[in-house]
Amino acid sequence: MKTVSLVGSTGSIGTQAAEVVRAEPDRYRVVALGASRSVDMLALQAKEFRPDVVAIADASLGDELRAAVPAGTEVVAGDGALAAIATGADVVVNGVVGFAGLPVTLAALLAGRRLALANKESLIAAGPVVQRARATPGAEIVPVDSEHCAVHQCLRASASPGREVRRIVLTASGGPFRGRSRAQLTAVTVDQALAHPTWSMGPKITIDSSTLMNKGLEVIEAHELFGVPFDAVDVVVHPQSVVHSMVEFTDGATVAQLSEPDMRLPLAYALAYPERATVPFGALDWTAARSLTFEPPDPDAFPCLALAYAAGRTGGTAPAWLNAANEVAVAAFLAGLISWLEIADVIAETLAVHDGTDPTGADVVMEADRVARVRARQAVERRSSAA
Ligand code: MG
Repeated sequence: MKTVSLVGSTGSIGTQAAEVVRAEPDRYRVVALGASRSVDMLALQAKEFRPDVVAIADASLGDELRAAVPAGTEVVAGDGALAAIATGADVVVNGVVGFAGLPVTLAALLAGRRLALANKESLIAAGPVVQRARATPGAEIVPVDSEHCAVHQCLRASASPGREVRRIVLTASGGPFRGRSRAQLTAVTVDQALAHPTWSMGPKITIDSSTLMNKGLEVIEAHELFGVPFDAVDVVVHPQSVVHSMVEFTDGATVAQLSEPDMRLPLAYALAYPERATVPFGALDWTAARSLTFEPPDPDAFPCLALAYAAGRTGGTAPAWLNAANEVAVAAFLAGLISWLEIADVIAETLAVHDGTDPTGADVVMEADRVARVRARQAVERRSSAA
């Protein structure tokens, strides 16, 4: 049996990973579960999966969790608790939301584990640091992000990806505002931005999807995961979310991965790799008529995409600043402090004062993240006090 640690087990990724485990109970054993603060749900999961250890990041909830889990279950609580459970399983699923996932990513890689990575922020913000941890013997990243999971699958069509890949083409659904002009986006509401047409995801990534920042972050993620230059990563809008991404090879052939939009498929792929899951998720029905369409993204309506390419090309701590500014701007939008269009403005203003620090270690990246958040909050305040 393959042992699995589910970090961020109560969120959107974690609960879907639990479904994958449930679908092949003879194949996996959950040995660790962890979440930031959802005691009730963690306790329910602990009763079902009977892990050895359960972790909660909020130290003040440790006793409550201890009282709620089955007798004999070890409970760890506090700051480093989630990273602590990322070292003792064959596969570590990192479904933590946002930059807080970085210690989990680093702990799993430094322990030489396979990391099923759904937390793209850790890779984007701390690329050079994560790359060094990834060099640990046994350490391996299998991406859970659907696009990168697709690319990972497409690359298996090549005996020598380093020589044979011409470009990676990431598909974007276009989000709820696809086809709207910039002028038509001035007054969009939080509810409209949260209504994603094809994917069911958490609120932060759903807003990122509406601005195309999600795709911008994924361009940087592709660069880090697959070692391709930014000029060799393209984005195409594909509203049906059936082609999850493509790889074009030097002979002109393009290989794509298709399935219904269902995050359980990338999760099942990452858990079973290098084998395949035996239970299908998202299989396509070809007996019904279906159209697949593709169109270029609109740079005026969705400036976040270009901001991400620019930060990626700058490198260093610029992607960390981009990610931090975006997290602050999205939270401000969700709180009603800024408009949807101002998300990109806050990020652009923050990146304009980026200090060019070199990401020599995790501490430097965390400090860059902290400084960028201060700058981004100042940009938010300037806007909300002017309004
Ligand atoms: Mg994605």
